[in-house]
Amino acid sequence: MVDANVLIAKFKQRFGNEPQIYCAPGRVNLIGDHTDYNEGFVLPAAIDFSCYAAISARPHDHLMLFSENLGETIAVSLGKPIEPASKWTDYPLGVFLQLQAVGFALGGANLCISSEVPIGAGLSSSAALEVSAAYALLGAFGHRADPLQIAKLCQKAENDFVGAKCGIMDQFIACRGLAEHALLLDCRSLQFEAIRIPDSLRIVICNTMVEHKLVAEQNEYNTRRAECEEATRLLAQHIPHARALRDLSLSDLENHRSLLPSLLYKRCRHVVTENQRVEQMAGALQRNDLKQMRKLMAESHHSLRDDYEVSCRELDLLVALAEQQRGVYGARMTGAGFGGCTVNLVEETHVKEFHRRVAEQYLAKTGHAPEIYVCKAVGGAARVS
Ligand code: ADP
Ligand code: MG
Repeated sequence: MVDANVLIAKFKQRFGNEPQIYCAPGRVNLIGDHTDYNEGFVLPAAIDFSCYAAISARPHDHLMLFSENLGETIAVSLGKPIEPASKWTDYPLGVFLQLQAVGFALGGANLCISSEVPIGAGLSSSAALEVSAAYALLGAFGHRADPLQIAKLCQKAENDFVGAKCGIMDQFIACRGLAEHALLLDCRSLQFEAIRIPDSLRIVICNTMVEHKLVAEQNEYNTRRAECEEATRLLAQHIPHARALRDLSLSDLENHRSLLPSLLYKRCRHVVTENQRVEQMAGALQRNDLKQMRKLMAESHHSLRDDYEVSCRELDLLVALAEQQRGVYGARMTGAGFGGCTVNLVEETHVKEFHRRVAEQYLAKTGHAPEIYVCKAVGGAARVS
């Protein structure tokens, strides 16, 4: 875990002055994957792993970017055009450029990043990095912005400068997370409702510790997006109100099934049914309907595995192992897939046993020790005093 005092001490040693510190959380999505870019619904919670950004303004026209996690410092001159370099610095640089583009006056700065969010595990270390960097840059130059504007600018940075076509979910929850709650977010209107997570349940995240080649994953992700766009195009010719897959009911889809190649039909069925499950899950959490939560999360996993085809052997195994344990009210893959993590809702009294047994059994079957995180839902980005 990051100790803010240690971060300050190291920053002073490195840059010779006192930083301001900002942090932004990672997130876990309880249900609703691959729905955000279809303008649908998601149900993420910010988790108690944060990315910290320590910053001070510099007199010279340079950004000094340092990542504690990677042990790397990169100096970027602001005197010439900034181009993407296909590395981690693209995230803070993309954010810098987006902030400037909408008129925030920024200058040279020392920016030191230290993150607790596992990197590349599907818990959105990237949005935590972008959002903490945005808060830091704004704060260091005396600006304030609305969290929604920050979320949108960070998403644009990731889409346009980093080149990852992510939806708005990750940046939104990093900015607007709420302690003890998940947010039922409409990714079209950006209206949201806070949904309390029942006190008796813990969010337990199991990390497969496998990362299926990043490039392949990115390709698969972009392919899924293209498939959804193509399906929307085909359906919209006969269903005028279908601007995105979010606009389809299951009966719309069934009635027009013949318009779609079978692969696109499956992709659509995932998105349409997943959107329904998100809203049902919000209701189940509010009623503390444990049986329904378990059923919806199982259906979500099956849909992602069979219709959307973004699961993998290790995720399926972690879900199967979790479902055999006592006190489990839901287990599914979470995030984009192809490795990364599962999310589990576990009764507090059973968490220890769950942890021990799942870790043992996963290690025995795969030879990899999983990392298991017992998380709390926390608030969004903030200045650290
Ligand atoms: P996720 O967001 O699920 O963790 P991504 O592939 O979207 O996975 O983002 C991971 C990338 O974000 C890393 O490869 C790295 O470039 C960048 N990143 C995240 N956290 C840090 C950090 N603390 N220091 C440097 N780069 C980071
Ligand atoms: Mg990410």
